Amino acid sequence: MEPILHFLIPLLILLALYPRIDRRLAFGLALLAVIPDIDFFIDFTHRFLFHNIFFPVILSLMIYFFTRSLKVSLISLYYLMSHLILDFATGSLALFWPLYQKLIEIKISLNSAWIFKFHIGTLPLRTIEEYMTSKPSYFFTEMGIMVLFVLMVMLIIKYKKEIIRYFRK
Ligand SMILES: [Zn+2]
Repeated sequence: MEPILHFLIPLLILLALYPRIDRRLAFGLALLAVIPDIDFFIDFTHRFLFHNIFFPVILSLMIYFFTRSLKVSLISLYYLMSHLILDFATGSLALFWPLYQKLIEIKISLNSAWIFKFHIGTLPLRTIEEYMTSKPSYFFTEMGIMVLFVLMVMLIIKYKKEIIRYFRK
């Protein structure tokens, strides 16, 4: 999944669930949701080096160690885990790397003939080149554009009075 969606989806869920949350904290820490994809730029490690369940736990423990704030480290854990959940929903991850060095995928679907399918499978770890041929557009897709568009429309509806006032001046 692309960075903009990793950033926006958990941020909007957090703001919707806890509207009174400190905005600077919510926005600032949301950057953490993009961090696991840094392994994309470290050759041969994408979808395992930072895409396993140990990475969010270790990183949020380190954040707790430095900030001594349970709130900050829990929000960090939430953002980091959201990355794994979103990626898992759209593909395969080496969730238990380095203990179990294979990509894991779960496929749940209800097809148009109402046949429910549930499948758990494993795949060998792939190199970036193999990954890029299956998913050529990483940074931006039509899904990201649609989400941004819906968000813009929602923001315009919410702040329409302010926008009208601004243009009347
Ligand atoms: Zn990812």
